[in-house]
Amino acid sequence: MPCWYELSWRNGLIVRLHADSIRHINNIPADDPDINLFTEQFGFTEWSGDLGADWGFEHSFTCRGVSGDFVEYEAVIPCVREYKPCDMCNGSGRNPFSMHDDIPCMFCENGRASVINMRSAFPVSASLSFLFARLRYPQFATLSLVPQLMAIDAAAFEGSGGGSVSGVYGIELAGYLRSRPHGRMPEIIAAMRSAHEKLFMRIDACHESGFKAQLSDGGALVIDCPGNATGISPDFGSMKPGRGYEFVEHNMDTPMHQLQILAGLAALHDLARAAIKDDAAKQ
Ligand SMILES: [Zn+2]
Repeated sequence: MPCWYELSWRNGLIVRLHADSIRHINNIPADDPDINLFTEQFGFTEWSGDLGADWGFEHSFTCRGVSGDFVEYEAVIPCVREYKPCDMCNGSGRNPFSMHDDIPCMFCENGRASVINMRSAFPVSASLSFLFARLRYPQFATLSLVPQLMAIDAAAFEGSGGGSVSGVYGIELAGYLRSRPHGRMPEIIAAMRSAHEKLFMRIDACHESGFKAQLSDGGALVIDCPGNATGISPDFGSMKPGRGYEFVEHNMDTPMHQLQILAGLAALHDLARAAIKDDAAKQ
């Protein structure tokens, strides 16, 4: 199928929409039922459907300009870590149980305690969910000369599974995965680590081992981000030689899980697109 949208990782999550796709989803009004659903659920204050500028819920997509037949948007990854004065040491930064002034408080950083506010990630998550749903089964064909590599479903709600990502890898992408040597895919891990740092301002030591992108037999790719076996893996029943295959989510409960896995998929998209272009150039 000719490409109607692409992902890319460029120290940020880039979504590229083909001009024909833009024509079909441009200027969706704020009173559209799907938009209303998200607005009411999350209490958003603004929807902008003008794809000629920054758009989405709370303008969470930044327009990055035209690239060939595509327009590029950055789905801006928010920082979810916020700081407040530490309750345990009343903001002094000194250990509340020690007689000595120079022992630091173990509950905070210099008197500031950090909390994770995932609400700041809901606008971009809901905007992505809306966009991917509109583009999942397009009722139009673009004139793009490159194939669609993957099609994605992304949930956006509060609770278990509320940050899920699932979808399908097309024939060309699955073929690319089968052509690669088995093992770790460092480019995917690097993108997820970068997304994690944008979200949380750092990678804690306990999360270091949580990033995984492992390729095995038949092009089977497992991608995990820090969590409880959180990520995506093949729907093995859908894997057939010479075909694309579906992937399913595990324990993806927050928009932070979602944005990290999408970062990994965007890096995968870059690798596959470059390799497929190289193959086409050789023929
Ligand atoms: Zn403290």
